[in-house]
Amino acid sequence: MADRTGPGPGGGSGSGSGSDSFKGPDSTPRAEESTTALKRRARKINRTLAETYPYAVAELDFRNPFELLVATVLSAQTTDVRVNLTTPALFGRYPDARALAEAEETELQEIIRPTGFYRAKASSLLALARRVVDEFDGVVPDRLEELVSLPGVGRKTANVVLGNAFGVPGITVDTHFGRLARRFRWTSSADPVKVEQDVGALFERKDYTMLSHRVIFHGRRVCHARKPACGACPVAALCPSFGEGETDPTRAAKLLKYELAPGREELLGLMREGRSRADLREAGYGLGA
Ligand code: SF4
Repeated sequence: MADRTGPGPGGGSGSGSGSDSFKGPDSTPRAEESTTALKRRARKINRTLAETYPYAVAELDFRNPFELLVATVLSAQTTDVRVNLTTPALFGRYPDARALAEAEETELQEIIRPTGFYRAKASSLLALARRVVDEFDGVVPDRLEELVSLPGVGRKTANVVLGNAFGVPGITVDTHFGRLARRFRWTSSADPVKVEQDVGALFERKDYTMLSHRVIFHGRRVCHARKPACGACPVAALCPSFGEGETDPTRAAKLLKYELAPGREELLGLMREGRSRADLREAGYGLGA
């Protein structure tokens, strides 16, 4: 992938011109990286990921804040692809918070059963919808403090909704984002709130939402938890953790997922052309890994 998307392992533009900047995978990183060098390197990673994933978006399908809020709750412990297969029937039956608040629990459970943990999720969704109706007149609020006051809604879900349904920049620290932020040494913390603060200090606020999408895309496709594909990684030259995963380019390419997986070049080409995910699904392209 590196040859078509940006700088590859050891072959890219490195990390910037400052004498104190990180040196890339072929040399030992300095113990201390200045804040300026860290910021410069972080922004280069973001730019390279933007070139690699020009089509990065929220992978959950939604048409309004209510749908995104519900889809995000459903996405716990499952894939966005599975949630997207479930939500058309769900929103066909319960199009808004008022309808969902009055849902019959066992019927709701049946509809969302494919997403797993369906009993707990049904009970969360009912409590959530009832609170939106009782406290916010059926309208999903657009402020972080109000969103996190809803049952089952933490900062991660609130930031997803703010960033994608309301256009308020937000960093979404999910499992992928946290892992990659640590591998990039943007933070050393495992606490999502601290990760959000540390990463937030490196970027302009306006970039937060797209940065989140790109990092999460990269985590799902290339920088996996257990077997990162370092040898096929477009930001290898900027990553202090290069070598944590497979470094052989051929073997690493086999670890790539979704549209970057071997044999899916046609899908990748269409995504790069800007074809929407809905179009691609209609045309018969499975978007799963
Ligand atoms: S750990 Fe490996 S796969 Fe992950 S970003 Fe760094 S070089 Fe890329």
